[in-house]
Amino acid sequence: MPGASGVNGEGSCEALCRTLVSQNGHQRETADISQSVLYTSLMGLLLVADNEKEKVTLGSGRIGLRNIGNTCFLNAVVQCLSHTCGLRDYCLLKSHRQEKFSKEEARLMEAFSELLSGLWVANEEDTVVNPRRFYNIFKEAVPYFSGYSQQDAQEFLRFLLDKLHTEINRRPYVRRAGKDPEQKYARIRLSEEAVAMWKTHLERDDSRIVDLFSGQLRSSLHCSVCSHYSNTFDVFCDLSLPLPKRSIAGVVTLKECLDLFSQEEKLDKENSPMCERCNRRTECTKRLSIQRFPQVIVIHLNRFTTSRWSISKSTVYVSFPLANLDLRPYGPVDCGPVLYDLYAICNHTGTVNMGHYTACCSDGNGWCFYNDSSVTPVSENQLQTNQAYVLFYQRSKSSATIRK
Ligand SMILES: [Zn+2]
Repeated sequence: MPGASGVNGEGSCEALCRTLVSQNGHQRETADISQSVLYTSLMGLLLVADNEKEKVTLGSGRIGLRNIGNTCFLNAVVQCLSHTCGLRDYCLLKSHRQEKFSKEEARLMEAFSELLSGLWVANEEDTVVNPRRFYNIFKEAVPYFSGYSQQDAQEFLRFLLDKLHTEINRRPYVRRAGKDPEQKYARIRLSEEAVAMWKTHLERDDSRIVDLFSGQLRSSLHCSVCSHYSNTFDVFCDLSLPLPKRSIAGVVTLKECLDLFSQEEKLDKENSPMCERCNRRTECTKRLSIQRFPQVIVIHLNRFTTSRWSISKSTVYVSFPLANLDLRPYGPVDCGPVLYDLYAICNHTGTVNMGHYTACCSDGNGWCFYNDSSVTPVSENQLQTNQAYVLFYQRSKSSATIRK
């Protein structure tokens, strides 16, 4: 198949089936999440839930979204999410209805699932889907987005995932008040401390969104007075990377952005937290690393810089790998290769005030360019532009196998 690429690198429907089926084998850390399976049927790809009650015949997914007034940010993000197989399958099979613990209605999740069904459930008549119902319900849930002006795609993505998570949280009644337990595990190993913090997180926040998008960041502090090391762990759903300062015509690599993100930073007394040993604020160094890798890593190239009076946009060209992005240098010392493959890109063109969002997504049969209602195939060499804004990477099969 010419130009075929896709999440699994093989590009055929059968390859996609094999990938989804074999994922059952390697997702040991999240073995409890319900898995769907794709079959090839006479009508096309058939998506079947593990309880076999729900079946959906998949279309090509190459359907546009109508712009209903400055909603390109929404359209681009929805296309990227709709190509996140683990989320798409969950939505199409309405899996949240089976696993919902909260008594409250999952209105946004229902509307989002309906929207994705419009994009994926085989129906030859539709070429464009209207996101209005979904957008109205979203704006009710997040009044911040009620204005009629252009919004930031990354912000929208964060709010959307957060709201969806809240509605489908498997632990909705655990009290959220109060602070996290004190992170004092002086005698146990760092990795055990990280696991303990992660378990605490899952006791309150556990959903398909967490299964797919959540990882754990480690922040290490080193006191310059007493040399004491301390660590804190935080959950993340995306990495927001700074761009190295370069001339407008410059070219940087994703690796340089990641290096900048994880490089050691000097904190002066005023900006540093209390040193546990000195029992006062001291000069220290801080370094961020990834303690736990998510299945899907969302990488935000932070092109917008807010100064006192204005927001400016960087149009620097950031080159990024389409396959085998290795995040090992940013993980724990002994983590081994941690490989990711790109499957969606959210682009921002134009300026801060006059911008437009589009998406490029891979569906296993190749890449398409999603520009509101229009969908056109693109080749791999057209994917890298200086407009790339949010990158969606899926952990690849090979890295998970090596990891054991
Ligand atoms: Zn100290």
